[in-house]
Amino acid sequence: MLSTAHHADVVIIGAGIAGLSAAHLLTSAGVSVSVLEAGPRVGGRMMTDEVDGFRLDHLGPLLNTSYPELYATPGLDGLVLRNFDPGVLVHSEGRRYRTGEIRSPRGARGARGARGALKAARALASAPRAPLSGSLTGAMGGAIDHARLGVALARLAATPRARVLARPERAALDALSGRGLSARTLNGFVRPLLTALLSDPALGTSSRCADLALRGYASGRLCVPSGGSATLPDLLAAALPPGTVRTGVHVTSADITAVRTKEHGEIGCRSLLLATGAGAAAELLPGLRVPPFHPVTVLHHTAPAPPPTGASLLLDADRSGPVAHTAVMSEVDPSRAPHGRVLISSTVLGTPPADLDRTVRTHLAALYGTPTDDWELLAAHHDPEAVPAMAPPHDPQRPVRLLAGLYVCGDHRDTGSVQGALSSGRRAAGAILTDLGVQPASGGTAALPEAA
Ligand SMILES: Cc1cc2nc3c(=O)[nH]c(=O)nc-3n(C[C@H](O)[C@H](O)[C@H](O)COP(=O)(O)OP(=O)(O)OC[C@H]3O[C@@H](n4cnc5c(N)ncnc54)[C@H](O)[C@@H]3O)c2cc1C
Repeated sequence: MLSTAHHADVVIIGAGIAGLSAAHLLTSAGVSVSVLEAGPRVGGRMMTDEVDGFRLDHLGPLLNTSYPELYATPGLDGLVLRNFDPGVLVHSEGRRYRTGEIRSPRGARGARGARGALKAARALASAPRAPLSGSLTGAMGGAIDHARLGVALARLAATPRARVLARPERAALDALSGRGLSARTLNGFVRPLLTALLSDPALGTSSRCADLALRGYASGRLCVPSGGSATLPDLLAAALPPGTVRTGVHVTSADITAVRTKEHGEIGCRSLLLATGAGAAAELLPGLRVPPFHPVTVLHHTAPAPPPTGASLLLDADRSGPVAHTAVMSEVDPSRAPHGRVLISSTVLGTPPADLDRTVRTHLAALYGTPTDDWELLAAHHDPEAVPAMAPPHDPQRPVRLLAGLYVCGDHRDTGSVQGALSSGRRAAGAILTDLGVQPASGGTAALPEAA
């Protein structure tokens, strides 16, 4: 099937990871695709800027080695994941505690290719669970709390996804007390962890989605893409036939047979896939539901010396300041900072305070237990529509086929995450191929393993 500057079998609006993964599956099956992206670069929300040798993400993504789509999406074979240290560090009442460690049969740290990490994640998911080995003591609970948490996480990791999705659904915060865990464990570990994973400080997210997020945590390791978030869309775009993606093309209106663009007039198509965020999708196709969003702000600082937390994710259980989570990112992924330099990345959820840098720096001084006066702010990014909210009832597999020839994908059709965006792209590509009567390339849209 042929593509020209003014026609393609499938036009995809938006070169975020959802649109790019769909494009990959479609072009692999021999369908001509044109991906139109309004911005100057691919990636959408997964953007990384290079500033003085630092690689600074617009978002502070917390991925997990248990995300099946990181391995099943064609084009991501070269993706290298950098793991955080096992478990998390939690700051409470002036002290830091390591907790939530899952003893992995392959617990060694370090970069791993995606395929190797998949094997490790599967081994971890199927391995007999050992009790947690963290130092969950004092204010965060004693040995019994610790053991209970280990059992609860192990049980969740072993629960099939379908069973989690069949559980009664309410707001995550309301469901916490029914977990059989002590208040100290809930407040000192589960709540701050879920807040970070869901970008939702009020925990109004569907309890099913919260359980899926915890299940993912318990089945793998928190990680980031080596080199920054943009590595992921860049890999996807590089694997597409040349000319498939056209950046700087803003679509102003669209229907099943054609899209109109600001810069290049009309482009005809047989099928249209809207792969924008929820708001832009509803502008192009009035009637599509737009969920509320969780705003997120990410700040990057450099410091003369690394704070003493290694490659751990540090959470604030006390909510004593604006930072929900922070990490010395140059320890997690050394490729994000010039040799010998330190990069600290911190995430603020909700509406940011007016005096952002000063307030965040004061909070970081308490969290890391080190003065931050000589830290330098490298960049701050605020996105008011960072993550679509998943209030109950939430359908994590919202239809991607609106009618034959018209499809929609993006994190708002699935779960508000990298895993959800990629999964929605896969589902949309599958629906398009079915309607076109085209066989997917082998390994293309096949069902995924139940790794997470
Ligand atoms: C600050 C922040 C923190 C996050 N933290 C996490 C996390 O910890 N873990 C996690 O898994 N996920 C996280 N996410 C969510 C994750 O980044 C998204 O779920 C995912 O990137 C969404 O991809 P997408 O392809 O669905 O949409 P997008 O990335 O939004 O892509 C849509 C694309 O469509 C383009 N577009 C829009 N309108 C038009 C038009 N009219 N014409 C042409 N192009 C158009 C846009 O320019 C954009 O490139 C975070 C997001 C943010 C912003």
